[in-house]
Amino acid sequence: MFESFDEEARRCIFMARLAAVTDKAKNIGLSQLVAGIRKENPGLFRGVDWQKSPLKLARLTPENLHHASQANADIPLDAKAKRALAAAPEIAKKSGGRVTSGHLLAAVLSADAKLRKQLQKAGLSKESTETKTARAGTRPAVSRSGIGYDLHRLAEKRKLMIGGIEVPFDKGTVGHSDGDVLCHAICDALLGAASMGDIGTHFPDTDEKWRGVSSLVFLRQVRQYLERKNWKIAHIDAVVVAERPKLGPHFPNMRTALAKALGISIEQINLKAKTHEGLGEIGRGEAVGAHVIATIES
Ligand code: MG
Repeated sequence: MFESFDEEARRCIFMARLAAVTDKAKNIGLSQLVAGIRKENPGLFRGVDWQKSPLKLARLTPENLHHASQANADIPLDAKAKRALAAAPEIAKKSGGRVTSGHLLAAVLSADAKLRKQLQKAGLSKESTETKTARAGTRPAVSRSGIGYDLHRLAEKRKLMIGGIEVPFDKGTVGHSDGDVLCHAICDALLGAASMGDIGTHFPDTDEKWRGVSSLVFLRQVRQYLERKNWKIAHIDAVVVAERPKLGPHFPNMRTALAKALGISIEQINLKAKTHEGLGEIGRGEAVGAHVIATIES
């Protein structure tokens, strides 16, 4: 049945199965198919405000996906999902190609008028809902970049947290949270790319809730903000500036911690270290800084 489905469309169905496990559902239904399509091609849902949608989709976080993929569950499709998958190749034929995630979404929406109305009400574009124009799966992705910068003072009797891990050193950063410059600069770069303000707007240092908190919490929260707006993180490139200690040996652990918090792979994060040639406050070992460029796509 799936010979005419392209790689991405097949992955959508695989993700729908994991969504059914996450939902503890007996069958894979249309809502799980929507969750799977959204996971693989969030750009199709550009404009949808999921908080306004009465449709509650399975949260396919890296943790839930890992858990669901461990379950060796054979979950059948329900009647509507079967009809949608059978209709998808017909829709694809009209635009002369293999079944894409866009065709799959059009088929799902044509199988259930109520579901279509719910998603349209939440902001789904006409282009994604009409079977005649269901080429959406092949339209080019939109990509945006954001820049982030942060600097924290160094002081004794503080932990040095950088990139979500503790780096052994005789000084640490001063901050309201754990003072992790790299995590803060990544948050700002991601928020900037999505035009969602900055870290201070979302996690003000006047709020007691954030005192001493791990900055990985901010990253996880920012990841959720982006997911809600249907953005996917494509890449992060960073420069960490510190006179001492040597950071390069800690980069593998930092990339692992950051990738886990952001739900991406370590290949999507690049870290570089620089000293400040003894100049300025960073050069005198009084502060550490970080510069980040993040790219997101939809
Ligand atoms: Mg900061």
